[in-house]
Amino acid sequence: MFKAPTHQIKRIVILGGGTAGWMTAAALSKLLNPNLFTVTLVESDAIGTVGVGEATLPHLRFFNQRLGIDEGEFIRATNATIKAGIEFSNWGNIGDAYIHPFGDYGEPLNNVGFHHYFYQAQKRNTALSLDDYSLPVMACKQGKFAFPTSEPNLLTSTYSYAYHIDAGLYAKYLRGFSEKLGVVRVEGKVESVAMRKSDDSIASLKLDNGDIINGDFFVDCSGFRGRLIEQCLHAGYEDWSHWLPCDRAIAVQSEHNGKPLPYTKAIAQEAGWQWQIPLKHRMGNGYVYSSQYISDDTALQTLLDNLPGKPTSEPNRLRFTTGKRKSSWVKNCVAIGLSSGFLEPLESTSIYLIQAAIMKLVELLPQRENLDAKRSEYNRYFSNEMDKIRDFLILHYHATKREDTPFWSFCNHLNIPQSLAEKMQLYKEIGVIEDYKYGLFLTPSWLAVYHGQGVTPSQGDVRVNQATLAHAEKYMNLLKPNIQRCVNKMPTHEHIVAMLHETEHNNPTASQLNRPANFSLYGRS
Ligand SMILES: Cc1cc2nc3c(=O)[nH]c(=O)nc-3n(C[C@H](O)[C@H](O)[C@H](O)COP(=O)(O)OP(=O)(O)OC[C@H]3O[C@@H](n4cnc5c(N)ncnc54)[C@H](O)[C@@H]3O)c2cc1C
Repeated sequence: MFKAPTHQIKRIVILGGGTAGWMTAAALSKLLNPNLFTVTLVESDAIGTVGVGEATLPHLRFFNQRLGIDEGEFIRATNATIKAGIEFSNWGNIGDAYIHPFGDYGEPLNNVGFHHYFYQAQKRNTALSLDDYSLPVMACKQGKFAFPTSEPNLLTSTYSYAYHIDAGLYAKYLRGFSEKLGVVRVEGKVESVAMRKSDDSIASLKLDNGDIINGDFFVDCSGFRGRLIEQCLHAGYEDWSHWLPCDRAIAVQSEHNGKPLPYTKAIAQEAGWQWQIPLKHRMGNGYVYSSQYISDDTALQTLLDNLPGKPTSEPNRLRFTTGKRKSSWVKNCVAIGLSSGFLEPLESTSIYLIQAAIMKLVELLPQRENLDAKRSEYNRYFSNEMDKIRDFLILHYHATKREDTPFWSFCNHLNIPQSLAEKMQLYKEIGVIEDYKYGLFLTPSWLAVYHGQGVTPSQGDVRVNQATLAHAEKYMNLLKPNIQRCVNKMPTHEHIVAMLHETEHNNPTASQLNRPANFSLYGRS
């Protein structure tokens, strides 16, 4: 039955000034009517932020675009480079390497996915390589990059791109952006929280200097601790560490070892994996590992032994439990960022999840406190996003032939979620990749990991016959040299980065560098 609204929502309070807090503040101040809402952000310099999170997905461009942020200004403010994919080394087997690109492999023919033809053709010619049919993969391998175009018939529209950024600088940039739009920042540590007697929702935050911050709606961006969503509202946590066993990370910055590459590196190690994220002026590095299988000291030594250049920061040690908050919106509080759960940094999905959460909140934010249906819809949406990403991440660990360390042996024999087991079975048997509803990662991404880690279909699509295969082989014979010609014409990533970072006065903006008008994410939409 309809419940009469009781209390108008006007004062929004965000707790936390990390990437999640300032992205939320920027979006709410830009996208909501300032006559209806005020936005206050509370953060504590003494507590600080998690201090990592530098690889992004192409969706961040949408976010910045919705906020009207100039791409060139953003790139310069965050010391960014371009990210066109991720290179995975030693995952399927030691010595293996593949790139998961932000883009397509070939085109479907007669409604049958390109990979079906590829595998059939490969049976006749084992020298064929899937990489040759992806423009972004070939460009990454040669350290090249050009902004994609929007004409659907051109190869240059078959990929997308993201950035490697200094996340601390992004938060600083968004702080300036938000304060100009009226967001009030309050420095202080929340010591206690007052609840409303009427419904046990949050009434106000009390800071260590005695100040009281009253609010009608609260966004908990307080990081892993979940200061409001967990400590006050007891949302509960669904622990996924039996599927995603890494629970610690050590991050260190270092010098570059040369030219910044247009992709992130994810190098599997003895008990986890190491990241290398090339920014304009330095490299971000980290070892994500399972404390059950390696000691902190050995993990640190492994990381230091495998840095691409001299370390330039002290090690930052982090602990986490992979999983999700059982409900990320409870009463009058929604958790965004690490407070809503964490899936570990593989495939760089956290900033995407922050952005997805913010946009859903903006869509559903109530003006009055008749919250129930909105809360349910939000929780359903966010939970689905987390589940689908979880499955994709587990695939990387599970689709391995490695047995060389106890960690990899554990991953190899993992009892995976039913949803992933069914998805993998479908692929292994008949090569079908069913895109999930709410799934962030679409067919080309699943194909990249399956193929890169040695999972191949045992049977082809029944619609492939001699005639269609002959047609497909002609197409493949043209596609490969066309891709190579495109890559040959591309400038190096190093050149693009240098141009983008030239002083503002001389800077050729991304749009002058042929920025695409469409923002298809993983190839053609
Ligand atoms: C090892 C690792 C690597 C990662 N790599 C990536 C990556 O490559 N790409 C990606 O997308 N994501 C990555 N992430 C995730 C990413 O770092 C986070 O999603 C992002 O930084 C957002 O963090 P946050 O704002 O939720 O929390 P935090 O950065 O922890 O910020 C919390 C804020 O809350 C404030 N606060 C907390 N308690 C109180 C209190 N009581 N009173 C006042 N203020 C308080 C703090 O001062 C701080 O401002 C990574 C995470 C980890 C752990």
